[in-house]
Amino acid sequence: MNGLLDALRSRLGEAGLLAGGDLSAYERDWRRRYAGRALAVARPASTEEVAEVLRLCQAHRVAVVPQGGNTGLVGGSTPDDSGRQLVLSLARMKRVRCIDVANASLTAEAGCVLADVQAAAAGAGLLFPLSLAAEGSCTLGGNLATNAGGTQVLRYGNARELCLGLEVVTAAGEVWHGLSGLRKDNTGYDLRDLFIGSEGTLGVITAATMKLHPQPWERLTALAACSTLDDAVALLGRARERAGDALTGFEVMNRASLALLARELPQLHQPLPAAAWTVLLELSDAESAEHARGVFEGLLEAAFERGIVQDAAVAQNLQQARAFWHLRESIPLAQAQAGLNIKHDISLPVSALPGFVAEMDAALAAWLPGIEVIDFGHLGDGNLHYNVQAPPGVAPAAFLAAHEAAINEKVYDAVCRRGGSISAEHGIGRLKREELGRRKDPVALALMRRIKQALDPQGLLNPGRLL
Ligand code: FAD
Repeated sequence: MNGLLDALRSRLGEAGLLAGGDLSAYERDWRRRYAGRALAVARPASTEEVAEVLRLCQAHRVAVVPQGGNTGLVGGSTPDDSGRQLVLSLARMKRVRCIDVANASLTAEAGCVLADVQAAAAGAGLLFPLSLAAEGSCTLGGNLATNAGGTQVLRYGNARELCLGLEVVTAAGEVWHGLSGLRKDNTGYDLRDLFIGSEGTLGVITAATMKLHPQPWERLTALAACSTLDDAVALLGRARERAGDALTGFEVMNRASLALLARELPQLHQPLPAAAWTVLLELSDAESAEHARGVFEGLLEAAFERGIVQDAAVAQNLQQARAFWHLRESIPLAQAQAGLNIKHDISLPVSALPGFVAEMDAALAAWLPGIEVIDFGHLGDGNLHYNVQAPPGVAPAAFLAAHEAAINEKVYDAVCRRGGSISAEHGIGRLKREELGRRKDPVALALMRRIKQALDPQGLLNPGRLL
């Protein structure tokens, strides 16, 4: 191992290798669920340096754990506790290489923080719409490696749909120059799509070309109180009908989510009394502000008349709109503060969500009285974070040890019975690897294993994650 570390130090310089000392920021995940021990942390500053790291690791047979902002929620970005895995941090590769306004595209390095990518696009008068609560820390490479979703998927799609091309370093240290601003290119297998969502198991993404969109003229944001999830689904249908593509956000939070926010983050103002379900909806309009406002008011009035919405608060300015979004985006932080919980990032056809939630809520309450379900997420995409928290007074770690496996089984059985997915946007990592093995179509799993074997025959890229 010392030979590897010496070679890395001489190739990357002192700034490019952290060995010894406190590496805990790289070894512990955001949820503090996984704590490992790294051999060292390599911090290359260029694609050629990434390639050199991988060639050296291949020669020394050392496993590599790619890491971006380390905000992933499934334990994919931190080393195990063997002390033999090298963390490969992309944090120093954060250059926006170019913006092509006429082509509406941007090329940036993988370690670029998502908020910086958004700001660079805005500086050129365009919109990079990928947006999630971790955007101040997560990176473009991590977003692509997990195929992140977030709050604007309804209109703009997830990271995959926004990506035009990639630059990737393979396990053997070759560089695939797949950066391209093309929207059409039928020249064989789509390697780009293979690497997107592969969670660092097939290659290291070093740069990407992403689609940009026009900035909307107006963004209108409201909170709406609904008595049932069925009403929230009905409101989504109305909003789609009236607003079409202008509907850019449709999130929900159940009563327990808002109660958790009130307990953990009491400084956050909640504009509406807590309802069974609170919808956060956003309309953006690229044509005219007047049109957007007309659609928005008409939609809410009609929803009141039909009894779908009981109460609503419309943001009067940008600051209020941000405060509404901040409420929704603070739920993961409030949960982290409250201690470990059992997370489920599920997706179902929107029409199947109310039935799933009703069945699960009733089954869990009857089985484990006092538990809390913090249920929130991207209703417009059919994606809920159905998170189960220990009853008051019960230590979260003990609760997880006693009930996590059985709760997962109940929740995932109900999801799969309805044709849903056990991971909508967070990926598989270590958290859901075994679940994937049990529930994924066996032919699909076998094909995935063959792809892994072909691209990483020594199994050195993020071993033990995903597969
Ligand atoms: P990391 O956590 O560092 O890594 C994630 C995975 O990608 C790991 O397997 C890692 O090995 C791999 N990886 C990282 N960089 C590379 C690279 N350059 N090449 C190859 N592999 C790489 N996700 C959503 O989809 N939607 C949300 O709304 C959302 N909200 C979140 C809110 C909070 C508060 C938090 C903490 C997380 C949230 N997430 C959400 C999780 C989401 O997966 C991450 O925030 C983000 O996409 C990961 O980026 P990262 O740079 O932090 O990656």
